[in-house]
Amino acid sequence: MNFSNIIKLLQTALNQTQALEVQAFILELQRQLQELKESNLDIKSASHERTIHLQSQILKLQIENQDLKKQLDNYLDWEHIKLSYTFSEDSGIYHNKDTDLSYCPVCFAKKIVNPLKYRMGAGYLCSTCSKWFS
Ligand SMILES: [Zn+2]
Repeated sequence: MNFSNIIKLLQTALNQTQALEVQAFILELQRQLQELKESNLDIKSASHERTIHLQSQILKLQIENQDLKKQLDNYLDWEHIKLSYTFSEDSGIYHNKDTDLSYCPVCFAKKIVNPLKYRMGAGYLCSTCSKWFS
């Protein structure tokens, strides 16, 4: 074996060693890339779950907000309706300010405006709660 052959053999061995190192390096890079992909998928999945959770929270709050608005509207409506009536301390019943008709205080407390029916000699009867008032 001459000197030039020895150099060729050494170069080939060196190239093979380098090729193996490069292959190992490429494999390591591929492994790290795979880890990053999996990690990215985990992040996307967590982010998606968080988004869905927040969307459901928003929907819940929107429904709650609608309910509260409705309650406020009902309250304001009732406050407006109440202005048309006056409570008589003597009879213990409500009267419409315009018509002077009588209304049941028990139903009125439940926000129900129910006119009482007068029965001669017996007093006023509520057709809703069946209570008598004199
Ligand atoms: Zn009543």
